[in-house]
Amino acid sequence: MSSSTQAQRIVLAARPQGEPTATDFRLETVQLPAPAAGQLLLKTLYLSLDPYMRGRMNDAKSYMPPVGLGQTMVGEVVAEVVESQLAGYAAGDLVLAHSGWVSHALSDGQGVRKIDPDTAPIETRLGVLGMPGFTAYAGLREIGKPRAGETVVVAAASGPVGSLVGQLAQRSGARAVGIAGGTRKCAYVKDVLGFDVVIDHHAEDFADQLATACPDGIDVYFENVGGPIWHAVFPLLNPFARVPVCGLVADYNGSAAVSDGLSVAGLMRGILSKSITVRGFINYDLDYCFGDFLKEVGPAIKQGEIEHLEDIVDGLENAPATFMGMLKGKNFGKVLVRVGERR
Ligand code: NDP
Repeated sequence: MSSSTQAQRIVLAARPQGEPTATDFRLETVQLPAPAAGQLLLKTLYLSLDPYMRGRMNDAKSYMPPVGLGQTMVGEVVAEVVESQLAGYAAGDLVLAHSGWVSHALSDGQGVRKIDPDTAPIETRLGVLGMPGFTAYAGLREIGKPRAGETVVVAAASGPVGSLVGQLAQRSGARAVGIAGGTRKCAYVKDVLGFDVVIDHHAEDFADQLATACPDGIDVYFENVGGPIWHAVFPLLNPFARVPVCGLVADYNGSAAVSDGLSVAGLMRGILSKSITVRGFINYDLDYCFGDFLKEVGPAIKQGEIEHLEDIVDGLENAPATFMGMLKGKNFGKVLVRVGERR
């Protein structure tokens, strides 16, 4: 049927030392053959850029293997089926796939999921109604377990995970205290997302402001960031507080302070004496909640009860710079790269 397709991809050219730089990535052009029997040819519409990708650039043991040098950077996409040689799919279908940082990909259908553009805007499937939104929902429901009247604190509060954590906490009757970087993000968290309080972590008296914002202590701290924010939060945790450990973005470039006054012994003493629950999780550990997530959060988004924001950049070639910016807080909302247009 079709002939070969010229595709672009971004590969890992070098392993970053600290912050990634442009030379750690390489844009390549490749020819993809026509799909064979059992294959799909996918055209990327949106590529999701997520903080976890920084960890995949390291040659280190983790919950997933690293990206190899010269290999395509990993990532989830919304794609259009251009040509199908796989039963159950037709040209024009829209799907979620793990194609990585590419304009086009061949797939055998593994990990591919059809999406219906009439139920929700397709870009939300990579954000509030996708992996980050699910992470917020599942971590809060299964580990945070907020109750009415409790105080829930979350940092990176304007991003796709944090923004949903705070809004869901409030739907449980809890107070939501957001932490974000800069005036614009803080205004959004307070005025649009409707958090009860927001604090700028760049403020010199950040720890004092946090204590003032939490006069009854902290019952749930949804950990997205680590570093100095964790140090300000820890003394404020109440007995029986719950800490879903979701991410440590302040440390992904290896820049967090090594010694800042909270020893392992001090940490463990606090956890013991206050009966605190600290539990790390990767979203797929909790995938048994996914059906409930779609049932509860999907309609709330459709009815405009849950706010969300996408930060969309055009062009695959801009993915590296956008990704590097996100790790430094330059994004404003869920980071997506618009790679191609729907036919
Ligand atoms: P965001 O879109 O919110 O982007 C990351 C944000 O982190 C930045 O915008 C910035 O916001 C903040 N940040 C970066 N560096 C620092 C720093 N040094 N100190 C304080 N804040 C900083 O990200 P997501 O919503 O996609 O992800 C949030 C967290 O959740 C990440 O840690 C991510 O790795 C984790 N995650 C974990 C998953 C899991 O399965 N466990 C799944 C998905 C995400 P600001 O400018 O407001 O500070």
